Amino acid sequence: MQVEGEVINEYHCETCKKKVDISKRVLLSSSPNVLVVHLQRIIFNFDTFRNDKINSLFEFPTYLDLKPYSFYEVMRKENRLNKNPTGEDDNQGSATTEAAPQNEDSKMPEEDDCWEYKLVGVTVHSGTANAGHYWSLINTQRGHAEPPHDSPQWAATEADQWMEFNDSTVRKFNFEKLKEECYGEDKGTSGGMESGWGNFGSYGKSAYMLVYERRIKKPIKILVNPEEAKREPEGVLYDEKKEEHYRLVDYKTGVEEIEPSFIY
Ligand SMILES: [Zn+2]
Repeated sequence: MQVEGEVINEYHCETCKKKVDISKRVLLSSSPNVLVVHLQRIIFNFDTFRNDKINSLFEFPTYLDLKPYSFYEVMRKENRLNKNPTGEDDNQGSATTEAAPQNEDSKMPEEDDCWEYKLVGVTVHSGTANAGHYWSLINTQRGHAEPPHDSPQWAATEADQWMEFNDSTVRKFNFEKLKEECYGEDKGTSGGMESGWGNFGSYGKSAYMLVYERRIKKPIKILVNPEEAKREPEGVLYDEKKEEHYRLVDYKTGVEEIEPSFIY
C-alpha cells in the first residue's frame, strides 16, 4: 500500500481546465469481516505469452493491523480531516490536491472501529501455472471454540488447532510448518528459456490465497423478501435507496445457525 502516494505529472484537471501535477494514493475506507488476499502467484508473461508461476519467497503475517492504511487514520495523522471537504486544496498549484473518497451520496464513509485481523486460512498451490494441485490449511478453532475477541489469545492463531484439507485427506497441521509449506522460495529458475519446454516459471509450493478474519465482527446483513417482511416484521429494516428489506444478524449466529441467501 502506498500511503505516501505517487505523483502523476501533467494531469488534466477538469475543474481548472489545465494540466497540473497530482498525487494519487489508495487508502482503505472500510474493513470487511473476512479479508481474502490473493497473492497473484500466477501471472501472464508478455515475453512468452504464457502463464508463469511465481514461487519467490513471500512472508506474510499471522496478525494484521490495517489501521495505518485507513482513510481516517491517515487523514487524522496528516491533520486533514474537515479541512478540504471538496477535495480541492486551498493552496493553488500544490502537488497534492486530494479527493476524499465519496459514496453515491458524496458523503464520507462511516469510520470503521476495528482494523485488526488474524490469519485463519491459507490455500496452497503446488506446481506450475499449467498443472498443479491446491489444498487448504484452516484454523478450525473458530466460532464457539475461538478465544474471545477481547482476550490476547484471540490473535494467537498459531496456538489454535489447524487442519490440512487436501482432497480426501484431512489431518492435523503443525503450524510450525507454515513457513516451509506456504512462504515459497526462489529456486533460481526465473528468466530466460532454460529448458526445451520454455520457461513456465518456477515450480514449487507456496501460499496462493490468504484468509484473514476481523477481530470484532460486524453483523451480517440478510435480505428478507417483502412477503416475509410483512408476515414477520419484527427486527426487519428497510433500505430505501436499495429498496430492500433486511435483518442484521450477529456474525456467529448468522454463520453457524442460519442459511442466508445473501451475505454482505
Ligand atoms: Zn484543479
